[in-house]
Amino acid sequence: MVIEKIETFVLKDKLSQSFFFSQWEYAERAICVVKVTASNGQYGWGEGYGPAEILESGIEFLKPIVIGENPLENEVVWNKMYRKTADFARRGVLMASMSAIDIAIWDLKGKVLNLPVSTLLGGSHRNQVQPYATGFYYMDHDNPARDFEKEAKLYLSQGFKAFKMKVGLGIEADVKNVKLLRDLIGPESKLMVDSNHAYTLREATELSRKIEKYDIGWFEEPISPEFYDQYSELKTKTTIPIAGGECEYTRFGFNQLIKNKSVDIIQPDICASGGLTEAKRIGALASANGIDIIPHTWGTAIGIHVALHFISNIESIPGRMYQPNFLMEYDQTENGLRENLTFPSIEMKDGMIDVPNRPGLGIDVDEEVLERYTYKKNGIVLSSIL
Ligand code: MG
Repeated sequence: MVIEKIETFVLKDKLSQSFFFSQWEYAERAICVVKVTASNGQYGWGEGYGPAEILESGIEFLKPIVIGENPLENEVVWNKMYRKTADFARRGVLMASMSAIDIAIWDLKGKVLNLPVSTLLGGSHRNQVQPYATGFYYMDHDNPARDFEKEAKLYLSQGFKAFKMKVGLGIEADVKNVKLLRDLIGPESKLMVDSNHAYTLREATELSRKIEKYDIGWFEEPISPEFYDQYSELKTKTTIPIAGGECEYTRFGFNQLIKNKSVDIIQPDICASGGLTEAKRIGALASANGIDIIPHTWGTAIGIHVALHFISNIESIPGRMYQPNFLMEYDQTENGLRENLTFPSIEMKDGMIDVPNRPGLGIDVDEEVLERYTYKKNGIVLSSIL
């Protein structure tokens, strides 16, 4: 059995209402998904995290390296892709293209062997994970937190007990918004903040100190990801745990982040940092250094299922009778691609999500929905849905 066909789909969903955060405004969601088909007709799905059309070009570039390879030998395929690209793409979108293919290969491998991805990873240490709601983006430049109350009520009614909000609008505005949200979700809920590297060390330090009293679970990407040493310095200046890594790639990048003692929590995006093959290695690094790993997710339910299987396989260190729940990022912003593309849909019960016990990632793509959202297939523009 060999990999016979690789198809790319650039999908777009226009939002009913745009939203913004510290860096830019979203008016649409766009993503590149990939379907890898083997010579026996079985297939797997993957997705990359990054600009969809650049991801697509990257996958086109990687196709000839991957076609003809054995889909059960994911590490061999990964290494072949890496060797052909390492001179110019150790970090960045081409690594995300590799990640998308790698994930599709894991899904395919699971389907061929009739085993869930979590079993292929080594087994599930837990059958459920606790999603935290990523939301509280900003809707209105004159009244940024306009929808906070509505959103908080909705997420609480859905059973969420942990929340992540955006900061990075300026220290004064951030402190006001953090206080508002803490009041809305109550003292029992977990609250994390994410500035998407909007601040200097001095500003991040000031903001940390001003919001420490609101019991912040972590401060995500306080500073530009290039400044490993400034992250380390910030860690010594605040009691808030520091998180980062969604802009980091491969075990080599995470090794640098960990060696510099830059963060308390690493957040690889498995759809960008090297796929599941590399996530397993990044997880081993985190384990060897006593660092928590809570992957970043942003995309369709393909990426969310990747995180579900991966998190179920993270070893609990230290061992103890009463383990805290393992958290999984669950974006709640408007995204038809996340809601409609795959089946069965994700169900949350009592604030938890089950890790699927079905072959591969445990989902399939609804081809009719796929067609509806497809803007480009295999590099050819099919529709102008926007
Ligand atoms: Mg983030």
